[in-house]
Amino acid sequence: MILGQCPYCKSNVISKKITAQGKQIKLYTCENSKKEYDETDSYVFTSDSTCRFRIYSNALFRWNKRSISEYEIKKLLKDEQIVVRLHGKKGAGEYFKYAIPHEEYGISILWEEDVQEEL
Ligand SMILES: [Zn+2]
Repeated sequence: MILGQCPYCKSNVISKKITAQGKQIKLYTCENSKKEYDETDSYVFTSDSTCRFRIYSNALFRWNKRSISEYEIKKLLKDEQIVVRLHGKKGAGEYFKYAIPHEEYGISILWEEDVQEEL
């Protein structure tokens, strides 16, 4: 399924179901961004990859966002940023932050900026 246009190279961004560490997650990837295991078992970009756009649906799991949805990725591709809902440690409540595409991490949170009046 095509979710939108890659912010880096303008190709299609597609959604794939993958299994990572025994869990089913989604990978949102530019068609020109491919990874494989090399001979030393490192997970690296293939030699024909010309783009770095890849976001795993669990990329923000550290901040207790279980999954990034296809809808959120579509919005990210369209608006170049999205507002994500994150959660603090148990009982600390939720908060909102802007997130943008990032070439190395896939997605990056703008910690310095506050979100006004979301939702
Ligand atoms: Zn691309």
